Amino acid sequence: MKLLIVEDEPDILSMLRDYFEAEGYGVLCAATGAQAIAGARHSPDLILLDVGLPDMDGLSVCRALRDHLPCPILFLTARVSEADKLQGFAPGGDDYVLKPFSLRELGARVQAHLRREERAHHRTQIRFDRELVIDYGRRVLYVRGQSVQLPKKEFDIVALLSTHPGQVFDRERIYEHVWGLDGAGDSATVSEHVRRIRMKLDAAGCAPVIETVWGVGYRWAKR
Ligand code: CA
Repeated sequence: MKLLIVEDEPDILSMLRDYFEAEGYGVLCAATGAQAIAGARHSPDLILLDVGLPDMDGLSVCRALRDHLPCPILFLTARVSEADKLQGFAPGGDDYVLKPFSLRELGARVQAHLRREERAHHRTQIRFDRELVIDYGRRVLYVRGQSVQLPKKEFDIVALLSTHPGQVFDRERIYEHVWGLDGAGDSATVSEHVRRIRMKLDAAGCAPVIETVWGVGYRWAKR
């Protein structure tokens, strides 16, 4: 398992690196937001992300990564006020840890997230027909064998609808499921995401799979 640790205080960074290396993890280190974004190209399994970085804040780093990286992000924050913000920001798989933290507690938290991810990886693929396969573990769609990567929220919507073919979900319910009750957007956000999913699948040559139920919401086509 590979961790990306993003922390600008050298003492904390080396302490974290030593600890997690001793626990058997591969560790990539970054001291700035820019380095974090570069480090993310190595596909870490989990990111420990300090919120207060010299060049950009951790939330902006997270936003920059979220679109193409499905791995869990564990924020490290020194302030309770920041923690509140994070809670609203990351209702999905992400989490935060308040500084100062105990290494053992942090280690347990990292392990729990990775175990959950691993379980998700063992979930099966669903083959819808000859054209479309969804791999829920790897969070990838295949259209005629070509992979289509979706950002996290878009994939979450696809996962929700496709595992309940024919069932109608209203936009509010989709929003709650994917963003959590604390999300700052609204059901228009859902429509926008569905629009983007459709565009990408269409571009990949996939026949329409998400149907609009006018005045209500969406459902996965039974086919
Ligand atoms: Ca810092």
